Amino acid sequence: MIQQYGLIGRKLSHSFSAHYFNKKFQSEKINATYSLFEKENLTGIKEWIQNTPSLRGLNVTIPYKTQIINITDALSLEAVEIGAVNTLKIHKDGKIVGYNTDAYGFEVTLIHGREGQKEIPKGSALVLGTGGASKAVCYVLDQYHIPYRCVSRTPTHEEILDYESLLTIDIPDFSIIINTTPVGMYPEITQAPNFPYSRLNATHRLIDLIYNPEETQFMKEGIIRGAYVQNGLKMLYLQAEKAWEIWQSK
Ligand code: NAP
Repeated sequence: MIQQYGLIGRKLSHSFSAHYFNKKFQSEKINATYSLFEKENLTGIKEWIQNTPSLRGLNVTIPYKTQIINITDALSLEAVEIGAVNTLKIHKDGKIVGYNTDAYGFEVTLIHGREGQKEIPKGSALVLGTGGASKAVCYVLDQYHIPYRCVSRTPTHEEILDYESLLTIDIPDFSIIINTTPVGMYPEITQAPNFPYSRLNATHRLIDLIYNPEETQFMKEGIIRGAYVQNGLKMLYLQAEKAWEIWQSK
C-alpha cells in the first residue's frame, strides 16, 4: 500500500511541505505521497485518521499545534514539556503519537552565530506571539538558560507584555527578538509585527520564524539598522527532516 503523509492546518497556500516531501519521495524512490489537508476545525479528525489506514504521519500547523494534543494517544516527553505538537506519527494499530520537531529546528537556528559558527547567544530575548511555535521557542530558550519575555496582543498574565508596553521598556536589554507570529507571512509581505524598530541597533539579533518571503519586513527593519537577522528556512528544513526520522523509526 502506498504510504500517505500530509499537513493539517487552516490555510496552507504558504506551505513548502508537500513540495519538499514529494520531491524527496521521488528522488529516494519511496512509495509514498504527501498531501495538504486544509481543515476549518479539528472536528472528526481522529476518526478520519483512524479510517485512513495508509496514513502514516502528519505535520500540524497554524492554528492547531496545541489543539491537536487532544486527539493524541501519547506524546513524546519534549512535546509534553512544550505543550505543542507539530508532528503526528500514526502507528499501524491506529495509535497516534505527538512530537515537537520545531524545537530542534529552532535550537539549531538559535546557536548559529553571525559568522556561521556555533555560538550560544548571550543576553535576553523577546518572543513576539504566544502560539504553538512560540511554545517551542520558549522551551529552547529555557534549555539554554536565556531569560525571555513574551509579547501578546492579549496577555493572560503579568509576565507577558502587551505591544504597547514595548514603547516604554528598555529594548537594548533584549538582544534577541524572535517573531513567532504569522505577521509578514506571504501574501501579507509588507506587514511587520508592531514593534519600536527605530530603537534597534547592530547589537540586536532578529529571528523571524517566517520563511516565505525569505526576507520579511521584520528582517528588513533589522537589516537597515545593522542587526544580525535570520529567517525560518533552516528551522523549516530541520523540523521536516526530524519529522521524517520519527515517521521512519520503529
Ligand atoms: P499559531 O499557533 O497560530 O500562533 C501564532 C501566534 O501569533 C498567536 O498565538 C498570536 O499570539 C500571534 N498572532 C497571530 N496573529 C497575529 C496578528 N495578526 N498580530 C499579532 N500577533 C498575531 O501559529 P504557529 O504555528 O505558532 O506559527 C506562527 C508562525 O511561525 C507562522 O508564520 C509559521 O509559518 C511560523 N513557523 C515557522 C516554522 C519554521 O519551521 N520556520 C515552524 C513553526 C512555525 P497572541 O495571541 O499572543 O498575540
